[in-house]
Amino acid sequence: MPDPLRYRPHHFLCSLGFEGKGYSDAFTANMDAIVMGRLRASGGDAIEIRVVGAADDICGPCPKRRGSLCTSQDRIKLLDRAHAAALGLQPRERLTWGAAKARIRAKVPPGSLKTLCAGCEWEPYGMCEAALARLHADRS
Ligand code: SF4
Repeated sequence: MPDPLRYRPHHFLCSLGFEGKGYSDAFTANMDAIVMGRLRASGGDAIEIRVVGAADDICGPCPKRRGSLCTSQDRIKLLDRAHAAALGLQPRERLTWGAAKARIRAKVPPGSLKTLCAGCEWEPYGMCEAALARLHADRS
């Protein structure tokens, strides 16, 4: 059994909305390998993810990472707190990507991200909100 991915709370929704853009080539290549290469690949729904409270597997090569912290630490902390509350994520909880998507569907209604992701520089582009709408539409 491979080690679970390590995700801070707000990266569950970021992974849902990822469209190949990021903070640097290395950051984007790493996120692409995780999201496209694993979560969205065949069998991706069964991949296990463990909730962590600091820099995680997405943050690894980020140019803004400083050890386990971030140059935008205050903003990131608020995002993590808001997303953990919205999704009901507990520290060190383990869940599959499929369960994470079900939780997003159950707890994050379409149109939520303007508030939930306030302060994120990617939010105004709308790709995460579009992915959230697709996730909800898939169910109906
Ligand atoms: S708007 Fe930002 S914080 Fe929200 S899901 Fe997208 S990238 Fe993540």
